[in-house]
Amino acid sequence: MSRIYNFSAGPAMLPKEVLKRAASEMEEWHGSGMSVMEMSHRGKEFMSIAEKAETDLRELMGIPGNYKVLFLQGGASSQFAMVPMNLLKNKKSADYINTGAWSKKAIAEAGRYCDVNVVATSEESKFTTAPPRAEWSLNPEAAYVHYTPNETIGGVEFHEIPDVGDIPLVADMSSTILSRSVDVSKYGIIYAGAQKNIGPAGLTIVIIRDDLISDPIPGTPAMFSYQTHAKAGSMYNTPPTYSWYIAGLVFEWIKGKGGLAAMSGINKRKADKLYDAIDGSGFYSNPVDPEYRSWMNVPFTLANPDLDGKFLEEAKGAGLVTLKGHRSVGGMRASIYNPMPEEGVNALIAFMAEFKKKNS
Ligand SMILES: *Cc1c(COP(=O)(O)O)cnc(C)c1O
Repeated sequence: MSRIYNFSAGPAMLPKEVLKRAASEMEEWHGSGMSVMEMSHRGKEFMSIAEKAETDLRELMGIPGNYKVLFLQGGASSQFAMVPMNLLKNKKSADYINTGAWSKKAIAEAGRYCDVNVVATSEESKFTTAPPRAEWSLNPEAAYVHYTPNETIGGVEFHEIPDVGDIPLVADMSSTILSRSVDVSKYGIIYAGAQKNIGPAGLTIVIIRDDLISDPIPGTPAMFSYQTHAKAGSMYNTPPTYSWYIAGLVFEWIKGKGGLAAMSGINKRKADKLYDAIDGSGFYSNPVDPEYRSWMNVPFTLANPDLDGKFLEEAKGAGLVTLKGHRSVGGMRASIYNPMPEEGVNALIAFMAEFKKKNS
């Protein structure tokens, strides 16, 4: 068996060590006589798995005691609705920052529940940059401010947490959570689908400040109320148990690597060397403003798009897969989340140099 370097944006690579551990525990978890998938979510075995995962995540991210961590389903896309349904309370509007495809989806969904003010956008630059905080004209009456710290498709990332004063700041961290240290206390809500940088699809993590968990709008289904899940310890209904367990193994793996401070250093180094290779090539290019380039998702184009098919084909032959860019932007995209080893990035850079030599 040989593992290849998978640059998929999501579902994405998982650490080899995690897969091996899961395989060794597949048929029987810790003398329980059954696999994690077969356990009651309310039994003591699964409860211990669930609690350890939460404790490790809290430790990794330094999540303050006045925040709940919810292990939900429905993906980040469900959060696009849950956020307004639960945070509007008696307010009528919310502020959104538009930095690309995922922001737009969040904006469209929120528009079903409230007046959405897009208070800053980088659409005029075709989302090749992000509007700096100084250019956001926030509305003091907004229920919350929503932004997308990392736009997975465009490869645009905020490297600082914007200060929005007392208005709750809501972040869709799907493709950047756990990639670096973060001050959770600056946020009202952080949410993320697991399949990019946490674990398998099916799990959605929501980190929410206690005071925001109340009074969803009338008619909110129980499953869409944060209160429901917070009261029930994310076990109102059957949670995605196996994904929760694998996420826990990933948290342990990150702790073993030295935690988020160590991950930040590794991720920055991986991204820097890939961008340097692109910029210095005269053959590949990345359109994003260097101040806002993503550490996780690196889109790039070839000087001649007629070579795209050949590039992908030969990359695959070299064990480098899922490099095709999103259908909305074309070109290539290398997603280099935590589990992508530095050797994988090195291998991509070497392949790109070789391909350029043969084709320019
Ligand atoms: C992938 C992604 C989503 C959608 O996530 P689902 O879990 O598939 O709903 C939303 N936001 C961002 C930033 C993403 O990268």
